[in-house]
Amino acid sequence: MSLLIAAVALAGCIVLYVLHPLLTGGSASMEEDHHELTEAQHQKRIALLGLRDVEYDFHAGKLDESDYRRLKKGLAAEALQAMESESRELRESEGGTLSAEVEDEIEALRTSLREGTICHECGEPNPRGSRFCGECGTGLSVTRETTDA
Ligand SMILES: [Zn+2]
Repeated sequence: MSLLIAAVALAGCIVLYVLHPLLTGGSASMEEDHHELTEAQHQKRIALLGLRDVEYDFHAGKLDESDYRRLKKGLAAEALQAMESESRELRESEGGTLSAEVEDEIEALRTSLREGTICHECGEPNPRGSRFCGECGTGLSVTRETTDA
């Protein structure tokens, strides 16, 4: 009898395991789903999604400008920090070299944070001076921070 219960429980677990990606996936697809995100990649993703929300809320009039700038600054710092530890992880796992692709990604994020060109629809970090998102075509209202050096 207890064996049967165990078997049923196990079957339940397998079903949940298989269904899990179906149930949790499909929301917020700002980048393609990687099966295994490292801690740093996960943090980066959360920070970027947060940034996107902050942009969205600001443009929707739910945030005033000082809150927007404060939140954005904090999230941007988190995203950059996560990207830097991500690149450290990659450097370690790839035996001391870091692909130019990753360096480019970090630089693109830095630039877009500075220039305010992160898309508030899809979270794409667009290059400096972009007026439209290169990923989804949404118009970018560049809110350039003149206080930055
Ligand atoms: Zn976009």
